[in-house]
This record gives sequence, structure tokens and C-alpha cells, in this order.
Amino acid sequence: MAEDSGAGSGRLELVDVRRAFGSYNALDGIDLTVEPGEFIALLGPSGCGKSTALNCIAGLLELSGGEIRLGGKRIDELQPEARGFGMVFQSYALFPHMTIRKNVGFGLAMQGVPSAEAQKRIHDALGLVRLHGQEGKLPGQLSGGQQQRVAIARAIVIRPPLVLMDEPLSNLDAKLRLEMRAEIRGIHDQIGSTTVYVTHDQDEALSLADRVVVMREGKIRQIGSPEDLYERPNHIDVADFMGFRTRMRGEVKKVSGDRALVETCGATIEAQSPVDLKVGDKVAVSVRPEDLLAMDSGEGIKAKVQSIEYRGRAYFGTASARDGTELFFRSNRQMARGEETVLQLLAGHARLFRGSA
Ligand code: ATP
Repeated sequence: MAEDSGAGSGRLELVDVRRAFGSYNALDGIDLTVEPGEFIALLGPSGCGKSTALNCIAGLLELSGGEIRLGGKRIDELQPEARGFGMVFQSYALFPHMTIRKNVGFGLAMQGVPSAEAQKRIHDALGLVRLHGQEGKLPGQLSGGQQQRVAIARAIVIRPPLVLMDEPLSNLDAKLRLEMRAEIRGIHDQIGSTTVYVTHDQDEALSLADRVVVMREGKIRQIGSPEDLYERPNHIDVADFMGFRTRMRGEVKKVSGDRALVETCGATIEAQSPVDLKVGDKVAVSVRPEDLLAMDSGEGIKAKVQSIEYRGRAYFGTASARDGTELFFRSNRQMARGEETVLQLLAGHARLFRGSA
């Protein structure tokens, strides 16, 4: 039976997974548990180790240390074919001289699935990615979006215990990316698969995944629901990635519960505090541009406008504080370069991190 030839199914566990290239630790002790049916996004900047992690799960790279288990069974010593996972790459990786039908059916042929059963499964998979009628064409006769759908059909037709996707939408234009994003989540829900999805795009990760794993320098910085990460990043690198573009240096003046008053850039602001802080502590204050509003007067951080651009509903710009700190802000009106302004922080919308920015 084709279904029995793979690595089985169940919970995926990465335990202290390490991978070195020479003396460089691309993965530096990754611990992650993925429940059956979950959609997990690995998110992080270029070079943080996301593709290395995915390739280790797929079996395309050997581990330097640690274990990977599926349904309690160790799989990190199995060949990629024996794991039987469905893979989708940025580059589609289709066979150019094979028809769409043959491309999608390739894995089934390798598994020795009987022809009638294979034809039915190819038909169903192409239906899921809305490509009926294209079976006889070659990949080169399809658009980029359609080719990526073929790659997805090829990955899911083998009914893999895990679907692994590495930046599958990067080669598509912005509109198609949004459409395909919704389709990928829809397909995941329909087939009830477990999916691990690599991206450097924060929006993509937040909109697609049940849980997002934020990586940096071969380590996991935070794992959480999209809401958790967006509202409560617990590390300054995660905040950076979640759009808290301004980083200011500050000193704690007062603490009450999870709120603190902080003196920064010549003003006193109130912020949520994720760590136990005390008066006198040096902190980094992270703020999103939309939460730092330019006002004509009043209390706030005095700054000089450096640049500004219109983005539909509002203007967004950069300014420099008196001490030279770069500030990313929002404005309800057009402003001039060099104009003096006062930036007000929306109450409680900053995050504090121990240590200086
Ligand atoms: P990107 O989005 O740019 O692919 P990534 O987060 O997926 O980034 P990886 O491709 O996993 O990053 O690479 C992690 C680190 O390991 C990088 O510093 C990279 O240069 C290094 N690396 C990856 N593959 C190799 C290799 N085959 N040989 C040597 N170094 C490698």
C-alpha cells in the first residue's frame, strides 16, 4: 500500500536539531513540536536557517546533532524517499518535458500505485488546485501561478504525512501571491495535512499559519500564534520583524504591574513591559510607525522630519530625535522635510526590552 511506504504520520518533533557547515552553525539547537493538521510557518530574515531546517526535516540535509521524530519514530536517518514528504520549492522544479499529468503522477509511479488509482488521484489533486483541462500541456505552456499549482498538486497527490514548502510564492507577482496564499491555506484545510512553510514575509506567515516560529541566527526566538507574535513579541529581534521599526534607548522611571514609564528621546512614555523591570533599568523601546503620530504641538518626542511619503490612508515618514535616534512615524497631513514636529506615542503601544537599543 502506498500509504504505508512513508514515514508514518503523527506529531513532528525536532529535538535539539543542529546543522553545521564547516565551523558555522546554521542550526544551533532547534526544539519544535508540530501537531498533526497544524500549519506552521518558519519566519526569519535571509540566512537565519529556515531552509536548512526544512531541508533537515525533508532529509535533503543530514543533521550534525539532535533528532527528528514523526509519530514518535525517529526519521532523521531515513532517506528522503522513505520519509515520503511532499515538497514545494520557490523554483517549482517541474520536469519541463513531461506533461502536467506525468509531472503530478511522478511520485505515484515511483511508489508503484496502480494506474487506475493513480489516474483518479491525479484528477482529484488537479481539481484541488483548479487545473482540470490542463493535463496534456507542458509546464512551459502554463503561467508561473499555474506551474506553482502543478508543484502543489504533485506534492499532495502522494498523500504525504507532511507538506514542506520553501518560499513557494516568491516568484509570483503581488496579486497572484495573495490569491495563491488563500488557496494554499484552503488546500491544507481540505486535505487535513500538516504543513511546514518557510517564508521571510511577515504578512504571509501571519495570514497563513496557526503558529509562527521566528528564527534568527540558527535559533528559535519565539513560537506563537500570529496574534501573540504581532501583539506581544518577547524578543527585540521578533519585534523588529513584526514591524516595530523604531528602536529608542530609554531608562525606566516608574513601574506598575506590566506597565512602565520610560524616559526616552527627551520625553516620558508609557509602555507594556514583558520583563520584570525596576526603576533605573536601561531599556530598548520598540514602536510601530502607525503608533507614533506626528502632532503640531503638545507633549511628546520632539523631532525633525527627514522624509515622508503618502501611503493611501495616511503619510508615513522618518524623523530624527534631538539625540539623533531615527524615528518612523505616521502623519495625517503632508509634511515638509526639515519641519519640526512632536511625535506622540499611542498609549501602551510600545514594547520594552531589557538592555539598550
Ligand atoms: P534564505 O531565505 O536566504 O534562503 P534561510 O533563512 O533559508 O535564508 P539558510 O539557507 O537555511 O537560510 O542558510 C542558513 C545559513 O547557512 C546561511 O548563513 C548560509 O550561508 C549557510 N548555508 C546554507 N547552506 C549552506 C551550504 N550548503 N554550505 C555552506 N553554508 C551554507
